[in-house]
Amino acid sequence: MQVQYLIIGQGIAGTLLSYAFWKQGRSFLVIDEPPPTPAASVVAGAVINPVNVNRWTMVTGQQQYIPAALETYRSMEETLGFSLIEALPLLVFHKDETMQQLFSAQQLVYPQYIQHPAPGEIKLARQFFSSSYIGKVEPVWKLHATKLLSGWSDFLKHKGWLIRERFDLSACTISPQMICYQDIQSESVIFCEGAAAAYNPLFKHLPFTKNRGDALLLSIPGLPAQYIYHSGTRLVPVANELFWCGGNYRWQFADLLPDQDWRMQTESALRQWLRLPFKVADHLVAERPTTAGQQFFTGIHPALSSVAIFNGLGTKGFFCGPALAIDLSRELAQPGSLPGKGTISLQRWLK
Ligand SMILES: Cc1cc2nc3c(=O)[nH]c(=O)nc-3n(C[C@H](O)[C@H](O)[C@H](O)COP(=O)(O)OP(=O)(O)OC[C@H]3O[C@@H](n4cnc5c(N)ncnc54)[C@H](O)[C@@H]3O)c2cc1C
Repeated sequence: MQVQYLIIGQGIAGTLLSYAFWKQGRSFLVIDEPPPTPAASVVAGAVINPVNVNRWTMVTGQQQYIPAALETYRSMEETLGFSLIEALPLLVFHKDETMQQLFSAQQLVYPQYIQHPAPGEIKLARQFFSSSYIGKVEPVWKLHATKLLSGWSDFLKHKGWLIRERFDLSACTISPQMICYQDIQSESVIFCEGAAAAYNPLFKHLPFTKNRGDALLLSIPGLPAQYIYHSGTRLVPVANELFWCGGNYRWQFADLLPDQDWRMQTESALRQWLRLPFKVADHLVAERPTTAGQQFFTGIHPALSSVAIFNGLGTKGFFCGPALAIDLSRELAQPGSLPGKGTISLQRWLK
């Protein structure tokens, strides 16, 4: 079989890149083996929030990332025929009056996103939560991540463009003109492997770092699902009475077992904040694909023109992924068009 591109991995990176190729009418195959523990894209809260609510500042590059994300996810909704993205207000519970003052000041600077809650929202917040200082970010978007990934996976399977197995680099022949793998020949291979890229010998000089995150799935009967709630921890509605709760950042770890200390602390903080009883339905853990300086690694390998990478999405794969996937698809069609687009030059590390 001959295709233009072979994509390794179908987390959000591989999904968005293959979608960009499909929209541009290019031929590709995706090889993905679901990992033994859920991938970062499955564990993510999958929220697109333009505001750093701990400092009340705007997220760098949000003007570029948000339009691309909205356009891509809405286009995917049309392609797949079901809803994937939802705009929800985020109610933020401040820790103290200083944060409330900062919120009030920034609300004047960015009124399009940072807002005072309406009286009905303040009433709702007081009914269900014990903290008193409240601010609002609107709009914030929530993605139905599992639906998105499984919907695109079904689409690819139906077309015969998805192989569900582990890609074995040692069985692949790479030349500047061609990639040969099993009976597949392609012009390029693009690695969208998430945290596994740190062990890929082709990218061993890239400065990956290790970071893991835990999240709880909570059943909270009675809590209105038309808001996301944030107070140190975040509650994101995912399904009937079910809320995603997370997440933490751990830089030192030996395994991906659930962090019981974090769970106990989170449950205890929730009992103080939330006025409703809750039950833990699941405890998820995943490794984020993170890099030193939180740089994105997107581009063509400087020493191997038929090899590319789409990685380093860190804490913002759903947020920044769509714009980066479009940039990378353009770079692959016309090498040299990426610099200045928020990606780092791979040359520094891989030459
Ligand atoms: C707790 C938590 C909360 C988060 N919240 C948000 C959020 O609110 N908003 C946001 O934008 N981001 C969030 N993120 C970050 C986001 O999840 C990541 O940036 C993103 O999922 C990374 O996607 P990826 O496709 O690069 O990697 P992954 O999701 O890890 O996918 C990689 C895929 O490649 C496959 N693969 C790897 N090697 C091979 C191989 N050799 N052969 C075949 N398949 C292979 C893996 O099995 C996997 O399916 C969160 C992350 C965590 C952990």
